[in-house]
Amino acid sequence: MGRDLTQKCKQCRREGVKLMLKGERCESTKCALVKRNYIPGVHGLKLGRGGRMSGYGIQLREKQKAKRTYRLMEKQFRNYFDKAINTKAGETGENLFNLLEMRMDNVVYKAGFCGSRDFAKQAIGHGAFQVNGKKLDIPSYQMKVKDKITIRPKNLKMPQFIDLAEKLKKRQLPEWLAVDLKTLEITVIGVPNLQKDIPSFDLKAIIEFYSK
Ligand code: SF4
Repeated sequence: MGRDLTQKCKQCRREGVKLMLKGERCESTKCALVKRNYIPGVHGLKLGRGGRMSGYGIQLREKQKAKRTYRLMEKQFRNYFDKAINTKAGETGENLFNLLEMRMDNVVYKAGFCGSRDFAKQAIGHGAFQVNGKKLDIPSYQMKVKDKITIRPKNLKMPQFIDLAEKLKKRQLPEWLAVDLKTLEITVIGVPNLQKDIPSFDLKAIIEFYSK
């Protein structure tokens, strides 16, 4: 599967939001978006942020923002949209958001076990986790309510998991996730809620983009 080779900080600057792609650096004053909050490139400062963008341009940017947030290529993202629009129950925007949020790599990241979705994807791909007691190395795996993710015993000594319980004490979790700090177990206890888990992109604009 391909990946977006644009420099990570440039992706944030292009979209005008912190996509949180570099772990701890994103929370620090070293964040490129804090220092240079304008579109990359020689005309970036002059162009500003979307002042003259057409409706299509805005929709495109919102779609790119979501795609880059979840680290997906166009085809994968489009597949999620098709699935969302073809789901009979619920609204398309909500369905799309739930599909993206319930990816295993997103859950591992949101629970604070990895500093970014890219790190989560990598760690899952290397077999560092198990779901409901069985090794699972598919970052796109769709989590379900009551599913439990744990670190495989042989991976507990990996540098990123040392002192994890201590680091997680301050972590703010979405309401649909719970983490047991003793066993380092993530449990999906609900589903994402658009009223509380506000996305950094506009779902309506994304639906309009693909509905043309
Ligand atoms: Fe984006 Fe993180 Fe780079 Fe800031 S440090 S621009 S949030 S990737």
